[in-house]
Amino acid sequence: MVQCEVCGNPIRSQSVTVLIDGAVFRVCPPCSKLGKPVTAQETDSSITTSKEKPHDKSQPSYPPDAEVELRSDYSKEVKQAREKAGLSQEEIGAKLNEKLSVIRHIETGKLTPNDALARKIEHFLKIRLLLPAEEE
Ligand SMILES: [Zn+2]
Repeated sequence: MVQCEVCGNPIRSQSVTVLIDGAVFRVCPPCSKLGKPVTAQETDSSITTSKEKPHDKSQPSYPPDAEVELRSDYSKEVKQAREKAGLSQEEIGAKLNEKLSVIRHIETGKLTPNDALARKIEHFLKIRLLLPAEEE
């Protein structure tokens, strides 16, 4: 049984190959809207061999050492983006390798994700959680 690489559910119907952040995933139809569909040929030739490390313009561009701070409404952002993506807390937890309770607590504002986790969530949900710290 083929499993969806995004939500982990078994794919009973046709799996869809999509491009998400420059990586190719085989996903179930509901998850295919998270990425850009690619054909098998594109997967084999242009995508994997055209450039070793494609510069992804959609990546948030942080200066490496910039001071960032978590936005105050991070919990709302995460919840909204997750729901928009049609993912459950379990699904995003599994994808991010985090416990369900972690996701749940982040969405209720009881847990403040550290920078690494915040960036993982940002990357996965295509949102901004860390903003440049303002000096006052
Ligand atoms: Zn899926």
